[in-house]
Amino acid sequence: MKQVVLPIIFFLPLSVCLAMDFQPPGPAERLRAIGPTRGLPEALRLALDAGPDFEPIPAPRPGDWLAVHPEPGQTFEDFVRSRPNRPDGTRRKIYLQPLGEFLKDQSPALEILKEYAASYFVTETEVFPSLAIDPLKFTTRSNPYTRNRQVLTTDVLTFLRKRLPADAFCLLAITMEDLYPEPSWNFVFGQASLRERVGVFSFARYDPGFYREERGKNYSETLLRRSCKVLAHETAHMFSLVHCIFFRCVLNGSNHLQESDSRPLSLCPVCLRKLQFSIGFDVVARYRQLFDFYHKVAFEPEARWVVTRLARIAGHEGVPSGGRKK
Ligand SMILES: [Zn+2]
Ligand SMILES: [Zn+2]
Repeated sequence: MKQVVLPIIFFLPLSVCLAMDFQPPGPAERLRAIGPTRGLPEALRLALDAGPDFEPIPAPRPGDWLAVHPEPGQTFEDFVRSRPNRPDGTRRKIYLQPLGEFLKDQSPALEILKEYAASYFVTETEVFPSLAIDPLKFTTRSNPYTRNRQVLTTDVLTFLRKRLPADAFCLLAITMEDLYPEPSWNFVFGQASLRERVGVFSFARYDPGFYREERGKNYSETLLRRSCKVLAHETAHMFSLVHCIFFRCVLNGSNHLQESDSRPLSLCPVCLRKLQFSIGFDVVARYRQLFDFYHKVAFEPEARWVVTRLARIAGHEGVPSGGRKK
């Protein structure tokens, strides 16, 4: 049977598309996307309340993802009806497979990425030892524009399919190598096969060194934040979440670096509900874990946002910034 492989990750198409017919959904449509929450446990109901901590998605500018790909979106109800991939007693772990080198000071730390995935998805996460690329005999080419080496994603996906552990919910290859999905494409940030629960994505283009530009002062924080963002986005796709068109959300599609940088690391209420439905986590415990992570890696805006959310869910405001009770 022919495999259906979706290039779900943002990319830079060589062609210019003139479609500009995406209209941001209004308040009623956003509420409909979340769905009725009456009857849910109180903390979950408050967590799904589309209050001031969530910004509606703005109208796309030319060249933005939704200007080029006017997607219809997926409400919570659509998601449930799509029979999404969900972890179960057997398929329950997230595996990360680093490909090629992750040089210290030029790459995100693998242990940190593992911790982030585990906290974000409240799912046990394991990182396999890194594999050198050359012995794997993937098809590669030199990109005509950047002159950097690129690895063919479909070869990586074929390789991953054969190595999916029995207890894996998903297996995601991560790499600092640049990727391409087929010869006519310039590059791709990543590619995944949702039903087969394998994917590959690259952090290469988040490093100014890739463009032979200077790595600035906040370089490591920027690279880590971008890497965490793409990790959360791509792993969420493994849970069958499609791109979000309702709020500013980590699941927003992105066509260029500026657009992905402007996405938040957080899930909007629609996407949070989908993930909570699939995994069944305690929303408060998850936010607390995320707070600990953001605090540890000094992602201060994200840590503050989580504190605000926790206060809102607790039904009051004014939790001291940076503090929380166990
Ligand atoms: Zn995506
Ligand atoms: Zn969302």
